[in-house]
Amino acid sequence: MSNLQDQVVIITGASSGIGEETAKELSSKGAKLVLAARREDRLQELADKVNNNGGHAIYKSTDVTSYEEMEELAEYAQKEFGQIDAIVNNAGLMPLSFLNKQKVKEWDQMIDVNIKGVLYGISAVLPHMRERKKGHIINISSVAGHVVFPGSAVYSGTKFAVRAITDGLRMEESAESKIRATIISPGAVSTELTSTITDEDVKGGVDELYEQAITPDSIARTIRYALEEPAEVTINEIVVRPTDQSM
Ligand code: NDP
Repeated sequence: MSNLQDQVVIITGASSGIGEETAKELSSKGAKLVLAARREDRLQELADKVNNNGGHAIYKSTDVTSYEEMEELAEYAQKEFGQIDAIVNNAGLMPLSFLNKQKVKEWDQMIDVNIKGVLYGISAVLPHMRERKKGHIINISSVAGHVVFPGSAVYSGTKFAVRAITDGLRMEESAESKIRATIISPGAVSTELTSTITDEDVKGGVDELYEQAITPDSIARTIRYALEEPAEVTINEIVVRPTDQSM
């Protein structure tokens, strides 16, 4: 039997791409899922699919940039399933652009979703996990959280931040409260992520990079692997690139 059987996992950004595939992968191993994103129709469709296949999924429309909504999400998970064993802070945006385009609203959005969303996710589950001396927090960074390229300054900034925050969390909580912290850093994955790019000068290079993109089920399996390891083992960080991606 999988270690994931009956484990309660919150997934943010579950309405598409990596989050959606992760939901399918984890439910196939018996996890009970709490799906979150803003597009409720997509969450409902996914929850129906999971439940019709014999799984357990509930959902809640949640904007990760709202501290209150993230708190409510965690409360909902506890009310419905009694506990939270893991959260996958996956929601993210990637409107890449050159700094001189001054797309300040997009910078703000990335900082709000990619950094604050992850922090609010951590905050929402931390007291509960500390109390139980048990839990797993998986944060999705990126290869762009390891390297910077022209057009990725702000996005990379947010993804470097996710790695820093996750490593800080690991240092503070692993020995003290046995909470596991994992960073997953994907390379190019074919999802809706590039649709947020509005800077035409960046788009060409990104389209070229994404010609070799892998499918999100690879990342879903990686997340499942990290979660399935026994409680005394923490997979701290994994980078997953398409074989053809050299950068
Ligand atoms: P998608 O665009 O397919 O998914 C992004 C998800 O984030 C959606 O479910 C979206 O849901 C959700 N989201 C966006 N804003 C918010 C918000 N304010 N509140 C709640 N949910 C939000 O992209 P991916 O699946 O590729 O992205 C998932 C993660 O993987 C991101 O963190 C991304 O940075 C990271 N990543 C992706 C890579 C790739 O090449 N695809 C490479 C490296 C990292 P909704 O709009 O319904 O709210």
